Amino acid sequence: MGTPQDTSVQYLKGIGPKRAKAFAKAGVNTVEDLLYYFPRRYEDRSNFAQISQLKEKEVYTIKAEVLSVKERRSFRRRGFSITEALVKDASGILSCVWFNQPYIKEYLKPGESLVLYGKAELYGAKLQMTNPEFEETGPEDESLNVGRIVPVYPLAAGFSQRSMRQLIKGALDKYLSKIQDCLPFDIRGRNNILNLAQSLLNIHFPESEEAHKQAYERLSFEEFFFFQLPLALRKLNKREKEGIVHKVEGELVEDYISGLPFKLTNSQNTVIKEIKADMSAPAAMQRLLQGDVGSGKTVVAMAAAMIAIQGGYQAAFMVPTEILAKQHYEKIKNQRSLPGRQAGKIKIGLLTGSADNKEKQKLYKEIKEGKIDLIIGTHALLDEAVQFKKLGLVIIDEQHKFGVGQRALLPKKGANPDVLIMTATPIPRTLAITIYGDLDISVINELPPGRIPIKTMHFAENRRKEAFRLAREELEYGRQAYIIYPVIEESYALDMSGAKKMYEELKEGEFKEFKLGLIHGRLKEPAQDKVMQDFKNKKIDLLIATTVLEVGIDIPNATCMIIEHAYRFGLSQLHQLRGRIGRSNLASFCILISSAKTPDAGARMEAMVKYADGFRIAEEDLKIRGPGEFFGRRQHGLSELKIANPLTQMHLLKKAREEALGLVKQDPRLAERAHALVKAGLLRRFPEYEKLIMVG
Ligand code: ADP
Ligand code: MG
Repeated sequence: MGTPQDTSVQYLKGIGPKRAKAFAKAGVNTVEDLLYYFPRRYEDRSNFAQISQLKEKEVYTIKAEVLSVKERRSFRRRGFSITEALVKDASGILSCVWFNQPYIKEYLKPGESLVLYGKAELYGAKLQMTNPEFEETGPEDESLNVGRIVPVYPLAAGFSQRSMRQLIKGALDKYLSKIQDCLPFDIRGRNNILNLAQSLLNIHFPESEEAHKQAYERLSFEEFFFFQLPLALRKLNKREKEGIVHKVEGELVEDYISGLPFKLTNSQNTVIKEIKADMSAPAAMQRLLQGDVGSGKTVVAMAAAMIAIQGGYQAAFMVPTEILAKQHYEKIKNQRSLPGRQAGKIKIGLLTGSADNKEKQKLYKEIKEGKIDLIIGTHALLDEAVQFKKLGLVIIDEQHKFGVGQRALLPKKGANPDVLIMTATPIPRTLAITIYGDLDISVINELPPGRIPIKTMHFAENRRKEAFRLAREELEYGRQAYIIYPVIEESYALDMSGAKKMYEELKEGEFKEFKLGLIHGRLKEPAQDKVMQDFKNKKIDLLIATTVLEVGIDIPNATCMIIEHAYRFGLSQLHQLRGRIGRSNLASFCILISSAKTPDAGARMEAMVKYADGFRIAEEDLKIRGPGEFFGRRQHGLSELKIANPLTQMHLLKKAREEALGLVKQDPRLAERAHALVKAGLLRRFPEYEKLIMVG
């Protein structure tokens, strides 16, 4: 008999090719995978609730016999079916109903004994269970299915809860003694961690709540540990490579800072210091700069660029959209030409996808020959044709708009250049440290002085006219405004007006005497650019837009934003959009129009009205969406976490991180014999780390 890792589930009793296939779809191939196929919830069936004791709105598990089953059609809604079963236990009779699941009656036979799980609800004067989950209980396997805390699994095709329990119990009995604990002994000891066999047993068939808790902690710790280990390996192995020692004190950076039309905030100064320390050290900088919308990250990034350039290196500044690239380019160029500045000392280039071929070839050549000191661009910078003479610094703005792979590409164009990554979706520091475990983190936690907080209001759809009136007043004062729509075209399916149609309508109606502009992603880049330029130069008063505006746009005279169908946007996205106003010392306001009544939408609108701080908003967003959704599927392997939850188990995540870092410091290639099992565990999860461990 093999180990659980190298035995296919096919060899287990009760699994034929068909079930094996269904399992493979759910990512279960080996016996080990099956042992790590965790229940989605548990039912305490050691004590069943009595029907006569049920209370409204509570969730119960009851054991009862089916008396009768009938199906009827709804009078009010055509084609809608209702299945009702009367069930009884020793204490009383209860009605259970299922809506629109006509097949249910096939499973309900009078005389049969069931375990039912659901919420008791009042219907008229009577209690009933609506859409309860249920399973039959037979005389056999009673020990697995009743009289204990019972696991309830996400079901793969072809399985019932009973057969899943049977299967997993069988696998546990047979393989638990063969299982090897890949967490090193000392780490287990220090963190007071239950051994693996006990943990697996109790995560499936808990002997008690306490035993389950320990099992849950142990398996969560393990997940966190193997999630942190690759980050620790990346962090420490990267540091070993020689980077560039930049000359951080110099004329260029000082001129740049003293030439700014404002004083840097304390936060900005602190972060620049941190960056200087990194850039002057031999190891390559790997720094994440978090700062709320409008906190002034660009200036900090530019100071870093000046440091690289004054020592004869090139800097590359990558942003997610063309509009943003152009905006940075214009702003930086103009700043440089202010009187008394280092005019002519540095050459700046702009590379975007829409540049024509001739332009591009010229830029490629200049970059390669080192004639361009600072190149600003979109992902067009990742093109193979872009080669640097002496790339010393890579800056990536709005990093969440790029995939991890894309982010890694640009630094490869130099010899271990310093890297600064920026994000305006700040997340709580402790979580950031653990998730971006291979990066150092800087935070700008204040806005430039004089900013007046944006007033945010939530209007129902029937107050749209009022919102427009408020916007008009702003325009009459010579200010500018945005109206944001989630879609371009009108959508009948979603009953939603689109940017295009509203542009036509508002131009002739509500905002007749003003100049309106329309911008959306399907507009060609040069056309988008023209609209933005016109808005900037006040040739447009009111800009109707989709989410192309989401990142970076900086037009201080815009003081009003109306967001239509606001429930369609995520919380962080709403915050980013809102960040387009309130960018000067003029008072600004934002109106969210939404009548959607889902609890989620309500929570988002409320958070937007209540909080201005991006960190706070991100926390709320995390709570509402959960970490997997919040960070995006691809980004961090967070969605790989099966049971661990970084929000509720932060203490474990921190411990796991410390242990992972400690282990890698002591044994950077995981070469020691005592670490053979950890290494195997890592490579089973992330085969691609073989290379990193072998060659570094
Ligand atoms: P973000 O962090 O969102 O990228 P930006 O770098 O675009 O923010 O800065 C927002 C605005 O604030 C810009 O117009 C910028 O010139 C201005 N700004 C940056 N730092 C300061 C400061 N210390 N004092 C006043 N204005 C500042
Ligand atoms: Mg920015």
